Amino acid sequence: MSIPFIDLKTQYKQVEESVKKGIEGVLEHGAYIMGPEISGLEATLAEFSNVSHAVGCSSGTDALMMALMAQNIGPGDAVFTTPFTFIATAEVVALLGATPVFVDVDPVTFNIDADDLRRKIRDVKENRSDLKPKGVISVDIFGQPADYDVIQPLAQNSGLFLIVDAAQSFGATYKGKPVCSFGDMACTSFFPAKPLGCYGDGGMVFCHSDETYKLLTSIRVHGMGVEKYDNDRLGLTARLDSMQAAVLQAKFEIFPDEIAKRQIVADRYAELLSGIDGLTPPSVPEGNVSVWAQYCVLARDTEHRTEIMGRLAEASIPSVIYYPKPLHLQKAFDSLGYSMGDFPVSEDLASRIFALPMHPYLAAEDQETIAQVIKG
Ligand SMILES: *Cc1c(COP(=O)(O)O)cnc(C)c1O
Repeated sequence: MSIPFIDLKTQYKQVEESVKKGIEGVLEHGAYIMGPEISGLEATLAEFSNVSHAVGCSSGTDALMMALMAQNIGPGDAVFTTPFTFIATAEVVALLGATPVFVDVDPVTFNIDADDLRRKIRDVKENRSDLKPKGVISVDIFGQPADYDVIQPLAQNSGLFLIVDAAQSFGATYKGKPVCSFGDMACTSFFPAKPLGCYGDGGMVFCHSDETYKLLTSIRVHGMGVEKYDNDRLGLTARLDSMQAAVLQAKFEIFPDEIAKRQIVADRYAELLSGIDGLTPPSVPEGNVSVWAQYCVLARDTEHRTEIMGRLAEASIPSVIYYPKPLHLQKAFDSLGYSMGDFPVSEDLASRIFALPMHPYLAAEDQETIAQVIKG
């Protein structure tokens, strides 16, 4: 039997009955768009995240897009984020005509480096008369929170908004606080492979401010005003649908238990993989909880990674490189004018990182097999 990278089938067996019941409920009442499941789910997840408001939407990408639109971002605006993330984080900035300004990451957590952020903000202020620094998007990469005690005041004192890209980290905590309680807004994704996934596309934006909440709900539906056919601004078609909300309500019942299980799996990996020559397992600072969207380890170098991944493949064990090419080197961002050498930490990570199978139902024996194969 082969080991799945993420095991959604086993998970489905845990929630089958309540998922079916939830979907049947939608089929019965027929409110496929903005049915009662939406506000129900929003209330549940806002409470879980310790924020006043949650706005369900069509994907994690659209969540980020809505957040930036609520900040009125456009041409001439600089938004700081890391190049070591999924394309969506910076893509939305560029789609709105604004300019992503990249900031390197910390070599241990792989999250935005506060010192480099400080440098890059100063650099834009002093040397880029064409750009106005507006905001920061921090990413909780692989499920681990960014350093909010440092990043949040830094953004605030620089007059910048902070958007948390929690697409991979919903359910994680920073010093006991839920990640989606940080920033002016926090955005998550319910893509099936994320820690809390639905059975299609979905996302959510979290915020504390009533004003921001009103803006977000308007942007979600074509910039709608108080009356349905009043349009106060330009917006999107970015609703979450009732069926996906029903799936999420069912899956949320087992989510806290799954977070605990993910931690057990991660702890077991850490033990099994410690002391292997040239291999660096991930580390999470004391006091924080990762949801382990991915379990990424570092090999000594590219050759070492190729060798290990080859052995895993031979043993039918899947492994994946997140991310093989940092965003500043992507063709889509050619026009930003970056080149190799601009972000040494991100480039180094891309050259030797790889992810192992990770999900709440990963058996101890399978992890032992994986560790054996890695040892060779
Ligand atoms: C998955 C992901 C997104 C986008 O989420 P979608 O729901 O796929 O649109 C954004 N940022 C990060 C860091 C992600 O991992």
